[in-house]
Amino acid sequence: PVSSTQEAIASAEAHSAHNYHPLPVVVSSADGAWMTDVEGRRYLDMLAGYSALNFGHGNRRLIDAAKAQLDRVTLTSRAFHHDRFADFCARLAEFCGMEMVLPMNTGAEAVETAVKTARKWGYRVKGVPDGMAKIIVAADNFHGRTTTIVSFSTDPEARADYGPYTPGFEIVPYGDLAAMDQAMTENTVAVLLEPIQGEAGVLVPPPGYLSAVRELTRQRDVLFIADEIQSGLGRTGRTFACEHEDVVPDMYVLGKALGGGVVPVSAVVSSAAVLGVHRPGEHGSTFGGNPLACAVALEVLAMLRTGEYQQRAAELGDHLHHELGLMVGGGAVEAVRGRGLWAGVDVVPSLGTGRRISERLMDRGVLVKDTHGSTIRIAPPLVIGKEDLDWGLEQLRQVLR
Ligand code: PLP
Repeated sequence: PVSSTQEAIASAEAHSAHNYHPLPVVVSSADGAWMTDVEGRRYLDMLAGYSALNFGHGNRRLIDAAKAQLDRVTLTSRAFHHDRFADFCARLAEFCGMEMVLPMNTGAEAVETAVKTARKWGYRVKGVPDGMAKIIVAADNFHGRTTTIVSFSTDPEARADYGPYTPGFEIVPYGDLAAMDQAMTENTVAVLLEPIQGEAGVLVPPPGYLSAVRELTRQRDVLFIADEIQSGLGRTGRTFACEHEDVVPDMYVLGKALGGGVVPVSAVVSSAAVLGVHRPGEHGSTFGGNPLACAVALEVLAMLRTGEYQQRAAELGDHLHHELGLMVGGGAVEAVRGRGLWAGVDVVPSLGTGRRISERLMDRGVLVKDTHGSTIRIAPPLVIGKEDLDWGLEQLRQVLR
């Protein structure tokens, strides 16, 4: 391990592709909501690995589950069965109120899986003519980084110079039901949405939008795919962000917190009628559904089943949004959005870029991530203490003074 921040950053700059621009902090250990850098400085983690760390760093139950599994078996590939697989799939399906699971590793892979599943369902079940399937997505979406997924991104940074792009996607404004209705044809197989747009700046759709999309998709025999990779598993104060409008989609796409911040675990969860379209050899992943992933995810599900994390996110989230609300209109904060322990804070541009604000927060011992110019994202681990949250908010107040 390196001992100096500058040395570590210089070496990383020299030997890694510059596809990220991390804050200049080099973390060497972490516990709960706190991280410690190579120089021994402590930071409050208000990003939580983009919600992968909902249960905090070094969560004892998750680490113990991983350690126990490490000593038994870590990988079989799907060429053979292993003794954690059936349990993981059955529990996850039940937890989601669904029937079947298709496990992958990263979020983008799960989104790809949802896209492939919807297309196959379109051809084999709905009767869409070969090669004609269309999927409706929202402007300003973020679903991952594969070639197909960036093909339907509207973010020039995510998309430029990665063409030729995958066809078959229609982009409509987020929150605009009429535009979605108009874009729908008999060849539309699915609507793919984030119930709250995370990377776009924690954008909550207008009230009634998700339930109206549910109604429209049901009427038109179109699958509703909810990408709950960032919004799901407790973050918004409910298990799924769709629940805020009593919506049950046809497919959940899950990732991030499903692996507890320990291992990458993602999945598509749906009905037997939908996921049943895949036949042996048609789709897969060497690591998808591996024993270590299943063991950790089973522990995640056991923790979520009690509802305590969801409740904590709801209660602390009310507090967070109350406090942030007080900052709006004071000359420094233009708007605050979000649900539960998740907020996008638009800082008045004259106070500096989101990046600059994040650096100043880092200097005060708080780690956040900016998005799109002057928006700061706040998403601490759900296990954060109220005093720590208040301390973090006080640092934000000081920086915005
Ligand atoms: N979908 C959503 C809503 C996300 O927020 C993300 C990641 O931020 C992804 C998909 C992609 O996940 P991954 O980075 O694990 O591929």
